[in-house]
Amino acid sequence: MTVRVRIAPSPTGNLHIGTARTAVFNWLFAHHHGGQFILRIEDTDLERSRPEYTDNILAGLRWLGLNWDEGPFFQSQRLDLYKTAVQKLLDQGLAYRCYTTPEELEALREAQKAKGEAPRYDNRHRHLTPEQEAAFKAEGRSFVIRFKIDDDREIVWNDLVREKMVWRGSDLGGDMVIARASEDGIGQPLYNFVVVVDDIDMQITHIIRGEDHIANTAKQILLYEALGAKIPVFAHSPLILNMDGRKLSKRDGVTSISDFQKMGFTAEALVNYMTLLGWSPPESTQEIFTLEAAAKVFGFERVNKAGAKFDWAKLDWLNSQYIHHLPVDKLTDLLIPVWQEAGYKLDGRERPWLEQLVALIGPSLTRLVEAVDMSKMFFSETVELIDEGSKQLQQEGSSAVLSAILAALENQPEFTEATAQDIIKQVVKQQNVKKGLVMRSLRAALTGDVHGPDLIQSWLLLNQIGWDKPRLHQAINV
Ligand code: GLU
Repeated sequence: MTVRVRIAPSPTGNLHIGTARTAVFNWLFAHHHGGQFILRIEDTDLERSRPEYTDNILAGLRWLGLNWDEGPFFQSQRLDLYKTAVQKLLDQGLAYRCYTTPEELEALREAQKAKGEAPRYDNRHRHLTPEQEAAFKAEGRSFVIRFKIDDDREIVWNDLVREKMVWRGSDLGGDMVIARASEDGIGQPLYNFVVVVDDIDMQITHIIRGEDHIANTAKQILLYEALGAKIPVFAHSPLILNMDGRKLSKRDGVTSISDFQKMGFTAEALVNYMTLLGWSPPESTQEIFTLEAAAKVFGFERVNKAGAKFDWAKLDWLNSQYIHHLPVDKLTDLLIPVWQEAGYKLDGRERPWLEQLVALIGPSLTRLVEAVDMSKMFFSETVELIDEGSKQLQQEGSSAVLSAILAALENQPEFTEATAQDIIKQVVKQQNVKKGLVMRSLRAALTGDVHGPDLIQSWLLLNQIGWDKPRLHQAINV
């Protein structure tokens, strides 16, 4: 048997971290078994589905490296298949038309509430006679199609994560609506039904999804049986929680993959982190791995039942590890769009210069976007002089030191790291000052700050774009 799994996002929002993590588990499982990973877009909710969300979902999955083998399939293009399946259930007497009005349903709910009972449909139209149906139609009532659920049925499955699961038909709220009406008969089919029709049609063998779908699984198993199909294996992965133990939500800041991307996480670190949300590798000390490496050892026996806490510090740590291990040219490719997004003009900045800058700031980065602040002094012509920088420039001897540096610079045909070191040594001697004063004054003059990346390397970069001398001149006049 070839393993076939799927991810089935609804395009009613951007790619959510929970959906992406479900995609990761599906991808890992498919690759572990040499199977197929299928992408299906569940866009039957016409009012809330938007093409831009579909684009965001596809782009997010691609960015994370979660390539799919088949699809994307769109449910909105498969309505005929669903209608045929509804008709099949109607013909077999497993489903029926229910004419109960919204007002009647509301009255039923109120009565149940008053008795302290859980709301459920009371299956009142399960056995209508043709005459009763005709009378409802004559009244102008609309209908929905309901699937019969036997209250006494016990529904049992062996979940790959949660082990033996037992539900009763009576837990499922009465006969379930599987489709609405339309002018000419069967209309819009509903979520639980189309999922099953699609999963049967696409020959899905394992359904891996979040544990918020457990109640749906109980209903869906009954539909598999009714449609005469083999029931797939289910695996319900734990939810992602915030540090307070509540379900991660918009209130926690970011929840969509594109937000994480904007915050400066690399795809590799994020996907690595998501893999660890609920799963641990057999060598639990080994926390940094590619999807391919994780797939080799992935299995549900190492997926937790308990919710997975989202730990920003750990994600940051992983991200910094990835950034620090990236070759300079790769990191440069990632930072160019970050700088452009910040409005920095890159024209005239040669690639070797950019790579030199990346080599300078790369080791201090945790998130890619930090490069914006860290490299501001190399992209904006005027330096921002912070208070301590300004104090440094007003220190006794500072101006003289800077003038001496400028004078020494004038005589250099070529400026290299060695030249820079020589100039500093020469000025220390000539001005009879401590090296610290020279370094601090130089840093304040060139960068406006008293802290920052390696001074000599920064100077070299500024010299190459001709910004060091003007800054020194300006600092002397502070
Ligand atoms: N469209 C559903 C969701 O986005 C998919 C559920 C499933 O995997 O069956 O949650």
